[in-house]
Amino acid sequence: MTKPALSDPAGCGGDHAKQALTVAQAQAYILNDCVPVRGTERLALRAALERVLAEDVVSPVDVPAHTNSAMDGYALRAADLSEDGTTELALIGTTLAGHPFTGRVGKGQCVRVMTGSPLPDGADTVVMQEQVDAGASAVRVAEDHQRGDNVRLAGEDLRRGAIVLESGARIHPPALGLLASIGRAEVTVHRRPRVAFFSTGDELRSVGQRLAPGQIYDSNRYTLYAMLRRLGADPVDMGVVPDNRDAIESAFHEAAACADVVITSGGVSVGAADYVKETLEKLGQVGFWQIAMKPGRPLAFGQIGDARFFGLPGNPVSVMVTFYQFAAPALRRLMGETNVRPAAFLRARCTTPLNKRPGRTEYQRAILEPDDDGELVVRSTGSQGSGVLRSMGQANCFIVLARDSGNVEAGSRVDVQPFFGIM
Ligand code: AMP
Ligand code: MG
Repeated sequence: MTKPALSDPAGCGGDHAKQALTVAQAQAYILNDCVPVRGTERLALRAALERVLAEDVVSPVDVPAHTNSAMDGYALRAADLSEDGTTELALIGTTLAGHPFTGRVGKGQCVRVMTGSPLPDGADTVVMQEQVDAGASAVRVAEDHQRGDNVRLAGEDLRRGAIVLESGARIHPPALGLLASIGRAEVTVHRRPRVAFFSTGDELRSVGQRLAPGQIYDSNRYTLYAMLRRLGADPVDMGVVPDNRDAIESAFHEAAACADVVITSGGVSVGAADYVKETLEKLGQVGFWQIAMKPGRPLAFGQIGDARFFGLPGNPVSVMVTFYQFAAPALRRLMGETNVRPAAFLRARCTTPLNKRPGRTEYQRAILEPDDDGELVVRSTGSQGSGVLRSMGQANCFIVLARDSGNVEAGSRVDVQPFFGIM
């Protein structure tokens, strides 16, 4: 069997075992190696939520479809209004949203209109009802209204023939509404990438099993399932695989045969029972496996057959950090998404001192909120052990500390990556 070639990561010279990559190098390397999965499907609008468009969507209509009133008020002709003093206009009818006025507004006339009512023929301006003195058959309007006030023009939001959403856009709530606003019932989206994942470790038991001494529950398969679902991938849970060469090898075969991406957790360090990297070397190809980051230093990225492979570390926080920094952008690219970068960092004042040794980029779990003056401040969740999953649950952001930086004094400004931009 021939092994497909992986390019050398920048600055790594192919010697992936010796030299740690920076986070940015690893991200660039992984993204460069991932292309959208082939295959699309046609979905009804609601089913397309959080999927990625595989077509440019063109509007068949003007939005708004007709010139209409932006307010409850009176539609009139601006030319009829006196420039100083009030004008009395004859009230010739009422129109509601969905019920156009069939007549025409002539000189000295007006029509009562509601928000969204089509603007009656002849009228060019709407005066808010709060600004007129209205009787049963006539209204008095003061001066000082401009032609076109409170009128929304047909096509002012979107012209017929214009591209509403581009191929590669994720269908989030406003996009779903936008598609409905142009009458779209179905869209073509990329198929979901299938992601097979399993945990490795003799100590792991699944929820529902009894724990013997030295055993722990497998939580990584749950965080992975959750992150994959949120992202819109198609997760395939393959359970727990023991620390055993043959078992890991057959799990790799099975996973790579059915999935676009294989994700494992645990077993990528240099411990006595860490077989993931050597199995990847045997069956496929390892792109790299050391990153200058904390948590998450050992991370295997590579390929088995046609499947991309991520060997995440075992510690529960490391799994989440490496997933969000590396696997998530890669999966978004596989899903066809054009914009795969997480939201830009914020700067905030850190109110707690932080321990940090130069050499690795750190992702410390923290809580970002406005202080009493409305300034954004951030504080550590406390213990930063990579096994403390509760720190991820308490946090709403990462404080991202640059590779070469050291300890942070309370009061310093730090880079913050809010979870709402990445989860
Ligand atoms: P490893 O990378 O396999 O050496 O695992 C590092 C640490 O993470 C060890 O303490 C493991 O027990 C723990 N760990 C590994 N996999 C899981 C998992 N699926 N769920 C919870 N903890 C895990
Ligand atoms: Mg292990």
